[in-house]
Amino acid sequence: MMKSLLLLPSICLLALFAAAQSQPAGQTFDLVILHGRVMDPESGLDAVRNVGITGNRIAAITEDEIRGTKTIDARGLVVAPGFIDLHSHGQDAENYRYKAMDGVTTALELEIGVGDIDQWYGQRQGKALINFGATVGHVPTRMRLMHDSGTFLPHDTAATTVATPEQIAEMKLDLEHGLARGALGVGFGIGYVPAATRWEIIQMFSAAAQYHAPAFVHLRGGLRAFCIAVSISYLGEQTECRAGSGCVDSRQARKLKSPVRQDR
Ligand SMILES: [Zn+2]
Repeated sequence: MMKSLLLLPSICLLALFAAAQSQPAGQTFDLVILHGRVMDPESGLDAVRNVGITGNRIAAITEDEIRGTKTIDARGLVVAPGFIDLHSHGQDAENYRYKAMDGVTTALELEIGVGDIDQWYGQRQGKALINFGATVGHVPTRMRLMHDSGTFLPHDTAATTVATPEQIAEMKLDLEHGLARGALGVGFGIGYVPAATRWEIIQMFSAAAQYHAPAFVHLRGGLRAFCIAVSISYLGEQTECRAGSGCVDSRQARKLKSPVRQDR
């Protein structure tokens, strides 16, 4: 991912808070942000400071007066790292521009993910206004394999076709390839591919497990499915998940956790 520095009218956002020194006598920074309330979650700093930037690095955070080729008066404004959006499907220049104006400095496509990791990163490298990143997605690989006519989400065949064992193996290979190429994990839109069996989904999870990579999941079955997932996570501790009408007790969860056969 790239590192960005964003300066916005309402709030100044610094993507990097480096260990900063005060300005050596006579130094002129490329950019100074003066008199803003600097908030750095990492160090706990929350105080009015001047920030000096050289290139794309924060070189100084200081109470001293500093000078720069460019100056931004941030009096009355907050100077802080930007937000990280973990659920950002809008991954184009226009969306990045709006994200920046909302204070987002990193937007990640995690839940659905992308098909070709190299191509996706290549299309953005050096051009994106903010930091970006993506998982490799089960849905995109299923759509490619099934020749689905949809673009981002399945429109027909990927939603309705049960995969052959060969197709499942190929999808798993695709995910492993993406992970080897630097994907941030595996994306799942299980709710969008009703024809995918539990066996298929578990095979995809096993690709993530091989790389110790996280999985980001849009569940199938809404609240009830969420309850099942929570119950399974806590199996053995007499857990019961109650949420609205989608209540599942640990007995039901244990049944669902029983070994999955390939024909299910
Ligand atoms: Zn989503």
